[in-house]
Amino acid sequence: MLERNYWLTTTAMPTPGPRPLPDAVDVAVIGAGFTGLSAARTLARRGAKVAVLESETIGWGASSRNGGMVLTGMKLGVNQLISKYGRELTQRMYAASLATIDCVEQIVKQESIACDFSRCGHLEVACKQKHFDDYARQAEVIAHEFNHPLRVLQKPELSTEIGSDIYYGGMIDGVSAGLNPARYVGGLGRAAIKAGAEIFEHTHVGSVQRESRQGENGWKLQTSRGPLWAHEVFVGTSGYTGVATPALRKKLIPIGSFIITTEVLPEKLAHELSPRNRMIYDSKNYLYYYRLTPDRRMLFGGRAAFFPENDQTIRRSAQILRRGMIEVYPQLSDARVEYVWGGTLDFAFDIMPHAGQLDGMYYAVGYAGHGVAMATYQGQKIAELMAGDKPDNPFVGIPFPGAPLGLYTGRPWFLPFAGAWYKFLDWVS
Ligand SMILES: Cc1cc2nc3c(=O)[nH]c(=O)nc-3n(C[C@H](O)[C@H](O)[C@H](O)COP(=O)(O)OP(=O)(O)OC[C@H]3O[C@@H](n4cnc5c(N)ncnc54)[C@H](O)[C@@H]3O)c2cc1C
Repeated sequence: MLERNYWLTTTAMPTPGPRPLPDAVDVAVIGAGFTGLSAARTLARRGAKVAVLESETIGWGASSRNGGMVLTGMKLGVNQLISKYGRELTQRMYAASLATIDCVEQIVKQESIACDFSRCGHLEVACKQKHFDDYARQAEVIAHEFNHPLRVLQKPELSTEIGSDIYYGGMIDGVSAGLNPARYVGGLGRAAIKAGAEIFEHTHVGSVQRESRQGENGWKLQTSRGPLWAHEVFVGTSGYTGVATPALRKKLIPIGSFIITTEVLPEKLAHELSPRNRMIYDSKNYLYYYRLTPDRRMLFGGRAAFFPENDQTIRRSAQILRRGMIEVYPQLSDARVEYVWGGTLDFAFDIMPHAGQLDGMYYAVGYAGHGVAMATYQGQKIAELMAGDKPDNPFVGIPFPGAPLGLYTGRPWFLPFAGAWYKFLDWVS
């Protein structure tokens, strides 16, 4: 088994090469993942001089490491959203979540990104009878409030969708899609460069301070490759947000998620496991998500350890995930696991996406495992806002809470307790 991101074996990332940093740009984008690259592409197409500053390489963060599930909806359920934000705002949020999929599809088409994008739909499977009972209620609210049809499947019908009999039923959203995330983020990088943005890899931003230049307000960024002045700053650092943007860091919890992939499976077995090739996830808080890769491996992921990736959490996760995969699919008990890797995603304290301006800098964060589509969309929408448009973006301006009592500086000491708490919730609810 290789401790390596399988997706990266399927593609070569663009390599912009080392160049000197410019003295000044219109916009400095921090982070070269979906968020930053989508913003850079949009801003450069609008004529802005853009520098994307990335500590590592293009797509190094969660954007090349994820499950490639391009999902509708948000992490919070619709009833929770309505009681928190009211009907009108929730309707706009839900409509935006559907538009995020169109946004990815449009970019893939416009930029001819060969990333196996397919509208295969997603399937949520119920781990308990009461979770299944809630599907019918959710589907009704979503049809009624958002005019969006979901299909609820009773347990006996589930065999047309999944080769596992451990679940109590399922719910399908045909609008969701799947893609190869490494190919997608590489393509987004090429598209940003084609539009005129410059990407500087191995350029870590250490600090960002307000500084005027020739009478213009702006920002001085200290980077590992020297200083840079920018009229505006856009932060797209997600689960890797660090001390350079302390106010944002305090509002985000970095959480590890891990994935294994098997060897290439025989066609008949792959078809038996997932006859319609859906993006699948279960109904637990501590959930498993899984799918077939385009070359017919089973990709199986979960929050096997709450802490972000390191040698220990990755190795331990491989064992936990393999056990989980065989519980779902006993047919895979002899399948070789060939790859394991992990990555860090970001949760806001209210588990919502957030975007807008904080301390004068633009940002988009908080995707909570729903970032493939939402990060692309927020990058584009915030870039449009920066370019002077007034795009409808229901996630701008909603309250962005920090930790209760402000007891958090960005070092998530409470993760083991949070992990235990979610396991407990899965047990009782
Ligand atoms: C294992 C895993 C599975 C997932 N599965 C799914 C899925 O199936 N579907 C889904 O929708 N979402 C999924 N997600 C979430 C999704 O991948 C993320 O929400 C999304 O990629 C976030 O994109 P981003 O561009 O905001 O951040 P990232 O891709 O994480 O990029 C942030 C970048 O910022 C850089 N950076 C940070 N600080 C600095 C600095 N000071 N200077 C310069 N650069 C800096 C980092 O090096 C990093 O490359 C998953 C995440 C993980 C980890």
